[in-house]
Amino acid sequence: MRYGRGVRNVCVFLSSSPGRPSDVAAVVGLGPELVRRDLTLIYGGAHRGLMGVLADAVLDAGGRAIGVIPQALVEREVAHRALTELHVVDTMHQRKAMMFELADAFVVAPGGLGTIEEAFEQLTGLYLGYHRKPVVFFDIDGFWPRLEAFLDHALATGMLRPEARALFRTASSASAALDALDVW
Ligand code: AMP
Repeated sequence: MRYGRGVRNVCVFLSSSPGRPSDVAAVVGLGPELVRRDLTLIYGGAHRGLMGVLADAVLDAGGRAIGVIPQALVEREVAHRALTELHVVDTMHQRKAMMFELADAFVVAPGGLGTIEEAFEQLTGLYLGYHRKPVVFFDIDGFWPRLEAFLDHALATGMLRPEARALFRTASSASAALDALDVW
């Protein structure tokens, strides 16, 4: 499949924790789906948790995986040593900036503070018009609807504008998530 809007590099934000068996299965499926579409994975460079599972799935399928990790996390998050490229940077800010520069689009799989922080930075940038790179939340086993319920609460209380709420989009399969990047 060719991507009309020039999507070649997809940054995936996801957990450095192991997650549920359903998370692992879905993330294992996302790897070959990226490769089948000739998309390069950009991610945080760790070999830990779901991050490592995804990078291994991409590499096992013969694809390209590029990691960006701060020096301070090389040990703690176990930098992946078999990636197509591993960029070791000085700070978390540089990590996010480099992932943003390399990426044409973002997929957000289940994760914790790091994943949510990274994803919301991109959503905010989109909302404020700093970029036009699509962001899609890959919902696995009912992970994101709880956050959507909170966003609906923020909408109802007037804290969130409808245009901003509409930017939070989910897809419930790997192929639907990648399709959504194309039809953005
Ligand atoms: P988590 O979802 O908390 O497991 O984190 C997923 C990834 O996000 C980990 O590699 C964290 O190191 C990373 N992360 C957390 N906070 C930031 C940040 N401010 N900038 C860049 N990466 C971050």
